[in-house]
Amino acid sequence: MRVLVTGGAGYVGSHSAKLLTECGHDVLIVDNLAEGHRPAIGRARFVEADLIDRKRIAGLLTEHRIDAVMHFAAFAYVGVSVREPAIYYQNNIVGSLSLLDAMRDAGVNRIVFSSSCATYGIPERVPITEDHPQHPISPYGFTKLVIEHALADYSHAYGLGYAALRYFNASGAAADGTIGEDHDPETHLIPLILQVALGQREYVEVFGTDYPTPDGTCIRDYIHVDDLATAHVAAIEKLQPGMALKLNLGTGHGASVQEVVDLCREITRHPIPTRAVARREGDPPKLVADASAAKRELNWQARYSMREIIESAWAWHKKHPRGYQD
Ligand code: UDP
Repeated sequence: MRVLVTGGAGYVGSHSAKLLTECGHDVLIVDNLAEGHRPAIGRARFVEADLIDRKRIAGLLTEHRIDAVMHFAAFAYVGVSVREPAIYYQNNIVGSLSLLDAMRDAGVNRIVFSSSCATYGIPERVPITEDHPQHPISPYGFTKLVIEHALADYSHAYGLGYAALRYFNASGAAADGTIGEDHDPETHLIPLILQVALGQREYVEVFGTDYPTPDGTCIRDYIHVDDLATAHVAAIEKLQPGMALKLNLGTGHGASVQEVVDLCREITRHPIPTRAVARREGDPPKLVADASAAKRELNWQARYSMREIIESAWAWHKKHPRGYQD
């Protein structure tokens, strides 16, 4: 297939574009490089463009005879979205709608969309199934939910085939060490811990130790970025016009912040000092996916363990202590 990948210079986008190419698909990356990294693109074909430019995107879809789209391009900081909702609404909603309309212009009717477990908000029950009510508590989560609704409506009215893949905690790095996680600023737990192990930070803050969990710290479902990539490729290969898939992508297993810290200590052989601080606003105690629908629909399940996630991330961070600058 000829696949246009938006946000292919970003974290999950670059790992998925790499796998698409390895599976024999023809990839065209479109990214405005607002958050993405030029070296993450590797040797894939690349056009620097913004999704808001509907005419240009429609032109690219036609010119490159694109069969399907993987849409990763979005801002993804929950905290920033609370302080700066305008840019999240503009980029994540207006940009995505512009892309969908460019696809209509060009007659491209299959899309895999990066959604998020943030669309569920504070879960009423765990593990979370896809039919769990979606009440996001951040503008970021809301922008993802709006696009899920748009996809459903476009599917109904225009025959669009779509997969909305709701990621849990994306983590880890490519096994060959060529690409990995590099956010600026970094807010995610595993890279922050590894920065302590590299001597770039003195300690890692633990956001809340009084949660109703066995060790008092938050539990999350960490999933390897290459497992996410595999699910994207399975979804795009399965999609047909008019098909609607809404799938959680997680391992079905939770790890607490304390457990993640302990495993990082073991793998890096660094003491990794921690400091208990207040809870972070909007953090539910436990988020774990019920990933059985993805197994049923895509014959997909996560392969990488928590240990493999941290080992791959550690290999990447050791080799690239300043991310893509190295
Ligand atoms: N967390 C933490 N200290 C940090 C960053 C994160 O204790 O410096 C916790 C956070 O409260 C959450 C988990 O680690 O329970 C994962 O957070 P992250 O920001 O990596 O991903 P999120 O769950 O927000 O998508």
